[in-house]
Amino acid sequence: MTTTITAAVVRALKAPMTIEQLELDEIRPNEVRVRMVATGVCHTDAIVRDGVYPAQLPAVLGHEGAGIVEQVGAAVKTINLGDHVVMSAAYCTHCLQCRSGHVAYCENLFAEDFGGRRTSDGTTSLSTHQGEQVSSHFFGQSSFATYANVLESAVIAVPKDVPLEAIAFLGCGMQTGAGAILNELRPPAGSSVAVSGSGAVGLAAIMAAKIAGATTIVAIDVHDSRLALAKELGATHTINAKSVDTGKELMRITGDNGVNFILDTTAVPQVLANLAKALSIRGTLALVGAARPGTEAPFEIGASLVRGWTFKTIVQGSSVPQEFIPRLIELWRQGRFPVEKLSKTYQFEEINQAFADSAAGLTIKPVILFP
Ligand SMILES: [Zn+2]
Ligand SMILES: [Zn+2]
Repeated sequence: MTTTITAAVVRALKAPMTIEQLELDEIRPNEVRVRMVATGVCHTDAIVRDGVYPAQLPAVLGHEGAGIVEQVGAAVKTINLGDHVVMSAAYCTHCLQCRSGHVAYCENLFAEDFGGRRTSDGTTSLSTHQGEQVSSHFFGQSSFATYANVLESAVIAVPKDVPLEAIAFLGCGMQTGAGAILNELRPPAGSSVAVSGSGAVGLAAIMAAKIAGATTIVAIDVHDSRLALAKELGATHTINAKSVDTGKELMRITGDNGVNFILDTTAVPQVLANLAKALSIRGTLALVGAARPGTEAPFEIGASLVRGWTFKTIVQGSSVPQEFIPRLIELWRQGRFPVEKLSKTYQFEEINQAFADSAAGLTIKPVILFP
């Protein structure tokens, strides 16, 4: 028995998605059926649509879904019928990284989140009326659809009094930026943090740096409007990289001490190389931005040996979503993580407009509402 749903389908790379009727199969024991209420649009959706990361087409993307559980698989233990849920990246639960609590670094991450098929039985949950297979389970969910069969590991139950459209997009970009600061870098109160790129991920990191008690928080971007928003969200200083030398400006702001923690969301090699030079002694430069596989960054390793600095990559804010998302919701409730300042809502049929506005820098975080 299948259920007819409406989904946004990627049929060709770099092309607009088409809104189509698809058939959704029955849930498996480790899945829940979610009626989608809202979903964020993330940069990762755009780069998969454009072929930077591979996907088997046709495919339904979307990985910041939020909705209400209408069916629960027999083996599911943490989610109940009627639960309000937010969705995040899926993980396998049984590899060594998962078992040691580092689910963001799941050894089977690619198969679980980008494979387009269930890892349990190789099936996809989606097909056309003519029987054509459509890739599903993007990040365990494929949330650009009115309904989805979602892996339990990708689902987080949330309080029912919180509007789902307000928190739909906590599961990827917000978690990535805030988690990089709060879970991984953990800047001590009074330390300095710089964030390169003031998109959704960067702005989440700015808010988190303020929550952590950093006293110098520098936002770097090329758009003055985004820098103004960064300031509103907690940045103490801003740098427009178009008009000044970022490295020199960071040294000036920190009184030539350099920055303790720098987070880069741009993944541009030359930007990373310059940021590394603006680190304090024993400082850390962390990358959360996505680059094409094979991309390399040049770092000075001679004179900087004695500086004891660190470069590291961070995925999904090193979060366990089931533990971290509720913390972000509580911070949101208290007004300390005001994500609504980043978002703009669109109707489902406007999804291609949402992508275009995001690419043009007009909207920081588009949120799709389902009918
Ligand atoms: Zn795993
Ligand atoms: Zn994402």
